[in-house]
Amino acid sequence: MQFAGVISAPGKQSLSPVFQQAAFDHLGIAVTYQHWPTPADGLETRVLGLQAPDVLGVNVTIPHKEACLPLVDDLDPLVRRVGALNTIFNDGGTLRGYNTDVEGFLRPLQDAFFEPRGCTAVVAGAGGAARAVVVALAEAGAARIAVVNRTLERAQRLVSELSAAVKPVQLVAAIDSRESWEKAAAEAGLLVNCTSLGTAGTPEEDRSPMPSDLIRSQALVYDLVYQPAETRLIRDARQAGARTIGGLPMLIYQGAASFKLWTGKDAPVDIMFEAAESALAMEDAS
Ligand code: NAP
Repeated sequence: MQFAGVISAPGKQSLSPVFQQAAFDHLGIAVTYQHWPTPADGLETRVLGLQAPDVLGVNVTIPHKEACLPLVDDLDPLVRRVGALNTIFNDGGTLRGYNTDVEGFLRPLQDAFFEPRGCTAVVAGAGGAARAVVVALAEAGAARIAVVNRTLERAQRLVSELSAAVKPVQLVAAIDSRESWEKAAAEAGLLVNCTSLGTAGTPEEDRSPMPSDLIRSQALVYDLVYQPAETRLIRDARQAGARTIGGLPMLIYQGAASFKLWTGKDAPVDIMFEAAESALAMEDAS
């Protein structure tokens, strides 16, 4: 029996154990996938422990994605570009860091037949998820990306840190204001929410990062928040006649890419979706 898991902050829920375990069970791989809540001051010990022969690897989530970088032995080039990892593979005692959020973000765009090449995008938020999304869009050939954030300095920092890595993408920062949205949304083919606004069970559950009247029907609206399935933003976008993508496909696809790194096998994505959707439905009902 081997072990895998997700390292998160204490007190944070994670859906990963549900759908990763379903994938291991479906393929008959003897792995137990666990939730490993870890405080910041316990992160180094936790990561060192991953070198044990019975540990396959881990997913890493908020707030440890950046702090893990100096703790592993080897970093995939994409991790350096994003500045964050979300997957560690224990390769016979050598800990290798990867970022599968990039692939996880792009796969649902492909499924929706959206071509990012040459597109103009607006990213709401400037945290870890926004960094992965900006790099993903650059990898896929986006022409221009505006990063709109409540804290302007954070958006500016993202832009200055990523501008070289995402060349020739035109990357600009803007403060979250109606004026910024008027300008950004008017020309954007893709609007992505990388803030936590809209998340179920938070005081911001009924909030959207974008003014609803500025969502154009030609735009594709992509919300990284996966619970509830229909966030306020997704509702607004549908009402505006825009196409939408929710956050669950990204979560599943990033997990499927991690699964492939650990096992060398294609993940049973349909099984993972089924397991995640029924867990979310049970949570909604309770
Ligand atoms: P993070 O680093 O903590 O960044 C949070 C972002 O949300 C910041 O830009 C922050 O703005 C903004 N924000 C928070 N509260 C806000 C408010 N009340 N009003 C306006 N802006 C607010 O988190 P993250 O890792 O980037 O994750 C962001 C969201 O994406 C989370 O909900 C996470 O669950 C989701 N996510 C989903 C997936 C997926 O697979 N579907 C993957 C990764 C992340 P300030 O800078 O002004 O604080």
